[in-house]
Amino acid sequence: MVATLLSVLSTFYKKMTDPKQERTFIAVKPDGVQRGLIGEIIKRFEARGYKMVAGKLIWAPKDLLKNHYKDLADKPFYNGLVEYMSSGPVFAMVWEGKEVVKMGRQMLGATNPLASMPGTIRGDFGIDVGRNICHGSDAVETARREIALWFKEEELSDYEFANKSWIYE
Ligand code: ADP
Repeated sequence: MVATLLSVLSTFYKKMTDPKQERTFIAVKPDGVQRGLIGEIIKRFEARGYKMVAGKLIWAPKDLLKNHYKDLADKPFYNGLVEYMSSGPVFAMVWEGKEVVKMGRQMLGATNPLASMPGTIRGDFGIDVGRNICHGSDAVETARREIALWFKEEELSDYEFANKSWIYE
C-alpha cells in the first residue's frame, strides 16, 4: 500500500519536474483555418518531435477571447483583435516536449509576419500583423493559464511516444 503510494507520488513528481513534459498552448487562428493551414502547422510541430496532447476546432465565444487577451485590453487594436479571433473557428492545441514554449514561439516567428524570418510559420504564410495565422504562449506560466482556459483537464491526453528514445537522448 505504502509502496504503491510512493511509486505513484514518484511518477507524479518526475512528470512535474521533467523538462520534456513542458506544455504550450498553440492555436491556428481563424485566418489560418480558412487558409487551410491546420495540417501544415501540425506537421511542423510533429516533425520537430513534439507531441500533441490535445486538439479541437472551436468557435471561441468573445468572453473566452477577452479573457485570453486580457493583458492587451488597453491596446488600440484590442477590439479588432477580439473581432478577428471570433470571426471563425480556431484550431486549439496543446503541445508537449522539451522547451516547447520557447521553440514554439520561434517556430511561429515574430508577432508581425513582415518581421518574421522565412522558415517560420508567420514568415512563410503571413503579411499583416492582424492576420498572423497562429498563436503560441509566450512563457511557461502563460501556457499554464491558457491551457486551463481553453481545455478541460480530461481533454488532455497523457501518453508516451513509442519512439521517444529516437527523439530524446
Ligand atoms: P503574440 O501573439 O506574438 O504573442 P501579442 O501578444 O503582442 O503578440 O499580440 C497578440 C495578438 O494581437 C497578435 O498575435 C496579433 O494578432 C494582434 N496584434 C498585435 N499587435 C497588433 C497591432 N499593432 N495591430 C493589430 N493587431 C495586433
